[in-house]
Parts: sequence; C-alpha cells; structure tokens
Amino acid sequence: MTATIIDGKAVAAKVRGEVAARAQALRGRSITPALAVVLVGEDPASQVYVKSKTRAAMEAGVEPVDHRLPATTSEEDLLALVRRLNDDTGVDGILVQLPLPKHIDTDKVIRAIDPAKDVDGLHPTSLGLLAQGQPQFVACTPRGCMRLLAEAKVELAGARAVVLGRSVLVGKPMGLLLANANATVTMCHSKTRDLAGEVARADVVIAAIGKPELVQGAWIKPGAAVIDVGINRMADKRLVGDVQYAAAAERAGVITPVPGGVGPMTIACLLENTVEAAQLRRAP
Ligand code: NAP
Repeated sequence: MTATIIDGKAVAAKVRGEVAARAQALRGRSITPALAVVLVGEDPASQVYVKSKTRAAMEAGVEPVDHRLPATTSEEDLLALVRRLNDDTGVDGILVQLPLPKHIDTDKVIRAIDPAKDVDGLHPTSLGLLAQGQPQFVACTPRGCMRLLAEAKVELAGARAVVLGRSVLVGKPMGLLLANANATVTMCHSKTRDLAGEVARADVVIAAIGKPELVQGAWIKPGAAVIDVGINRMADKRLVGDVQYAAAAERAGVITPVPGGVGPMTIACLLENTVEAAQLRRAP
C-alpha cells in the first residue's frame, strides 16, 4: 500500500472537540444550542442513526430534542410539528430523519424547515446559497468530505475533481463545494459514458454512488486523493465502499477507508452546523 490513509474517526473527534468548545462558549452566554431530531416510524436503520446523533449531540454539549412519531403520522401533522419547531426560539437546528414514510411528501417537509435552522443543508435556500458561493448550511456529508481533504492537505485549486453521483444529499453539494474551492469539476452519474476514463483523469475522486467497489483500483490516477462516501452492506455483513479499497490504495496519494472514513464525519458536521446555527441566530 502506498496511499496515506485519512483517519475519519480521528478528524471527526477533532471536529466534535471544536464543537464542544463552541457549545461551551455559548452556554457561558446562557445559550444552550439545541438540535430537534424528528423520527417518523420505526425504520431500524433510522433508529440507529437517530440514537447516534442524539448521543453525539449530548457529548458535545448540544441538547437533543427528540420527537418520535408513529409511522401513521399524517403529512399535515408532521408539517405542523416542523412549524412549531421553526417558531421555538430554543431550537437551533431541525433534522427530519429520512426516509419518511411513503405517504409523506419529503420535499414539502424539507421546504417547510426554516432555512435558518436547516442544519442538514437540504433546503433549496441552503443549496442555492452554496451555488451562489455564499454557503450558510452545507449538507453534512459533503461538508465532512471537504474537511477530510483539508486535513489531508489536498490542493484543490486548479485540480481536476470528479464526483461520482449527483444526489442532492451528497453529489450536487460536493460538486459545488469543489468548484467554489477552484477545482475543475466533472459530475458523473448513471448515464456517464466512460466512468473509468473520467476517474483516470482525476486528481481528486469523490465516490458517492452506493455500488459496492464499482470504482476499480486500476482507474485511479497515481497520487490522486480518493474519498469514498459509499456505504454498502454485503451479504456477509461486511461494510464496503464504492471503491476497491486495497487496489486503489496501491495507486492513490491519500484515501479514506470504509468504515472509518467519511462515515464518522457526517454526525460531527451536523453538530458543527447546529452550533453555527445557534451562533448565527442567537449570538451574531
Ligand atoms: P443516491 O441518492 O442513490 O444517488 C446515487 C447517485 O449515484 C446517483 O446520482 C446515480 O446516478 C449515481 N449512480 C448510480 N449508479 C451509478 C453508476 N453505475 N455509475 C455512475 N453513477 C451511478 O445515493 P446518495 O444518497 O447520494 O448516497 C450515495 C452513497 O453514499 C450510498 O452508498 C450511501 O449509503 C452513502 N452515503 C454515506 C453517507 C455517510 O455518512 N458516509 C452519507 C450519505 C450517503 P443517477 O442520478 O443517474 O441515478
């Protein structure tokens, strides 16, 4: 292996430490940063995510405000809760855990969140501000990827960056962040003709497609930075990324593992967005 491994757990711990210091400073001014977490239904994976978010919030001095609703909750009732949380001056961030049950229009719920409390960064205003180069709240996973690139001292200005995936959650904000950092960005998706060729030209590869080990090690340009966002659970319960890790690590300059790379950054950046929301709204 030649690549330097980017230790996402260590960077996430550093970010959580920074968040804890900022939360403590806010508490010193009688402001308790609070994150409302809304979970609709009993999806086991969502329950695990919500539990981790709640625990991490408490550890960082951010108060979690849990709202657990039954799967039968109507769209109207969920929208009413979001509006109440928007109006609650003690709540700084609102996170609605996705996916929502099928009878609820997810876009409608996200659009109901006050952009000043959109710590998940999924509201059109958040994405629009990012597109304008004036980000307020950036989606947590792409924000985490940028921090990992910064910690690994990857030069982005003038670099050729390829983002695999164009979701609103990861790919699109990632592409905008890299372009804002002066990289030359190519965004690939399921209709891209020559994925291998696009990857082979890239100094920075961000893989966010959700297809186990689709990105072959041989595609990676020698010395490239490889950030693997993918989390794929295999039949034997192993977690693998979207990149063939061992083969890619033979060629890359720096690389994130799965697990232990991007994963731990997402919650850390959610908490970072929450203290920033508290600061912006209550201690500008
Ligand atoms: P998503 O909404 O399903 O989007 C997947 C994207 O990949 C789409 O843009 C799709 O293209 C593209 N794609 C699919 N197959 C492809 C192929 N063969 N070649 C090129 N592009 C292809 O997924 P997501 O929410 O962005 O998540 C992506 C992955 O990241 C998943 O494994 C997810 O579990 C993981 N994830 C991890 C974290 C974390 O904390 N580490 C957070 C979020 C997501 P089209 O647009 O053409 O369909």
